Amino acid sequence: MSDKVIIFDTTLRDGEQSPGASMTRDEKLRIARQLERLRVDVIEAGFAASSNGDFEAVKAIAAVIKDSIVCSLARANDRDISRAAEALQGAARSRVHTFIATSPLHMEKKLRMTPEQVYEQARLAVRFARNLSADVEFSPEDGYRSEPDFLCRVLEAVIAEGATTINIPDTVGYAIPELYGAFIADLRRRIPNSDKAVWSVHCHNDLGMAVANSLAGVKLGGARQIECTINGLGERAGNCALEEVVMALKTRRDHFGLDVGIDTTQIVHASRLVAQTTGFVVQPNKAVVGANAFAHASGIHQDGVLKARDTYEIMRAEDVGWSANKIVLGKLSGRNAFKQRLQELGIALDSETEVNAAFARFKELADRKSEIFEEDIIALVMDESVTTEHEHYRLLALSQRSETGERPHASIAFAAGETELHAESDGNGPVDASLKAIESKVQSGAEMLLYSVNAITSGSTESQGEVTIRLQHAGRVANGVGSDPDIVVASAKAYLAALNKLHSKIERVPAQG
Ligand SMILES: [Zn+2]
Repeated sequence: MSDKVIIFDTTLRDGEQSPGASMTRDEKLRIARQLERLRVDVIEAGFAASSNGDFEAVKAIAAVIKDSIVCSLARANDRDISRAAEALQGAARSRVHTFIATSPLHMEKKLRMTPEQVYEQARLAVRFARNLSADVEFSPEDGYRSEPDFLCRVLEAVIAEGATTINIPDTVGYAIPELYGAFIADLRRRIPNSDKAVWSVHCHNDLGMAVANSLAGVKLGGARQIECTINGLGERAGNCALEEVVMALKTRRDHFGLDVGIDTTQIVHASRLVAQTTGFVVQPNKAVVGANAFAHASGIHQDGVLKARDTYEIMRAEDVGWSANKIVLGKLSGRNAFKQRLQELGIALDSETEVNAAFARFKELADRKSEIFEEDIIALVMDESVTTEHEHYRLLALSQRSETGERPHASIAFAAGETELHAESDGNGPVDASLKAIESKVQSGAEMLLYSVNAITSGSTESQGEVTIRLQHAGRVANGVGSDPDIVVASAKAYLAALNKLHSKIERVPAQG
């Protein structure tokens, strides 16, 4: 059995299914490039058959990623599998990942199929997929709650049809480490051809055990692939967090004795990129990537750490990519320095026009803020006005007045497609007034579920404010993120960004797995 654990990242598929975390094609491309720099073995880029947007995103990622295998999810039917294979055509290396539910509950309530029908469909789907792709993964959805005898029959059959990876999802996060490890070990022992496939774990975090379960699946069950997401992004309590599971394997190699191919120095950058793109901020005490995860990096120098770092730290902050907030650019930095910095950060803008637009925004920011940090640059290119997408709503100008004892008032100019709109409103505060002004014209009727402000870099008031707004309308949820040294402006940008996402009505088929 191999000593290497394959890291399969599903931030762009399972992670993106988290309500409000949907990403545009360009955002997904940016994250895929960072995942490649992180050297993940497999990037699950999306679920090609679920929507045209997903299809295009998988296709675009397949066209640029060279080092990682690019994978698309597909339900166990010919149409889905053909769509996945079609989207993956341009990939250097690709994988089709097909799934069907095998638990009694899911088969009866969701699929309304008999076990015999599910068995047949799984077999035929893998056979069909193998005709289109040499690399085929099969997942029995809700696998952990399936009848072991039935699961053994299904898995033996799909391995015989040529499935190269067998993934055992704990779809609802119900597993316990020892039991999950034993479950996989038992399947592998009972299935005669189990050694013909790589075994994989896919754990959800509903009981906070996704990482522990994944590690048990590897150590006790003999799995050699872990499915995970950056920051543990995902529906409900999320998925197994890539940064935690990878650092556990690395830091406790003495126990696991296994290797991973990840370049851990890219972890923090990947975490920031995903957090800033989705608006799902990382809690300060989150393992590995939280702002307080290392006393060293958080600036709180405890006596013990100063005397000898290993008194309190089991990992080195720099090994996962923490660097003391370095000033990367300043007001006098030129276009070449800016462009080089973008490259170092792994941000590839598609055209010179985009570089120019981003540079103009950088100069504008540098005029208002003397020190520009890495996070500022990420926020800057994240701003929809410099990306290739033509957003429907764009902020043009905003002014607001607030004074003690007076009701704040805002006036705002923004574009809606080709039309320029002007609006005014008062409100409880300047942010409230600005958003009410926008709403008075847009009349989205959306309900605000979340409003949060964070400082992008240090805790200082000189840093840019990053605002996340989550809106809900007609059963859809969208997150918008906006950044600016002025938090009122950042709020207006975030509101318009969320409206843009609600506006771009992406209809897609839901997938679990
Ligand atoms: Zn999942």
